[in-house]
Amino acid sequence: MKSSIQYGNSIIRFTLQYADRKTLGIQVHPNRKVYVIAPIDTDLKKIKAKLKSKANWILKQQEFFLSFHPLTPSRKYVNGETHLYLGKQYRLKIIQSKNEDVKLKRGYIEVHTIDKKDTLKIKYQLNIWYTNKANVHFTNLFNNLLPIAKTFYPQKVVLKHRWLKKKWGSCSTKGQITLNTELIKAPKKCIEYVIIHEFCHLAYLNHSKSFYNLLDKKLPNWRVIKHQLEHFMV
Ligand SMILES: [Zn+2]
Repeated sequence: MKSSIQYGNSIIRFTLQYADRKTLGIQVHPNRKVYVIAPIDTDLKKIKAKLKSKANWILKQQEFFLSFHPLTPSRKYVNGETHLYLGKQYRLKIIQSKNEDVKLKRGYIEVHTIDKKDTLKIKYQLNIWYTNKANVHFTNLFNNLLPIAKTFYPQKVVLKHRWLKKKWGSCSTKGQITLNTELIKAPKKCIEYVIIHEFCHLAYLNHSKSFYNLLDKKLPNWRVIKHQLEHFMV
């Protein structure tokens, strides 16, 4: 059944299931939905009271997953907001300055900008910074992994990246691999997984059994990494 509680200004909706267990279980899934599993016959009031005591944690979890959502339009580009880079969370520090610059400093992404209130400009500066970082890291990872592709695809392979809306990467018949620039926010091993996945498309331009056999051979634990990528950046 579905129910909800009010906590401050927030309404927390949850799906409740009963199970043969002794304690109440609360899960926040990467899609930010809340699932509650309660011992059979637990009073709904009791469940809600327990949820209220955990509300802070639930909201934090939801926020955590929200920050990994590449399609979320909720970014405000203001001080203190968390942004991801190579799998780590950084807080934004917006600094008014004549010299525009973006740099990493002690857990912060510092954005030096002319007008602190010009969030569009800050977003633009940040995206340029991510793009530059992607140029460096994607190229390095790609070059390190290229020998894997060479074992079954001797022709030239070219790497590009763009901000894509719906996928992490693609591969063309002409040996061009395109990564989603957004991947620069994910852990390196997730980027490596997408590169190797696209390499395998050089041999098979589909998700056939042969494709997966090749992927299994080249990256045996790819399922774990894929799961991580999906749950990290849903
Ligand atoms: Zn694919």
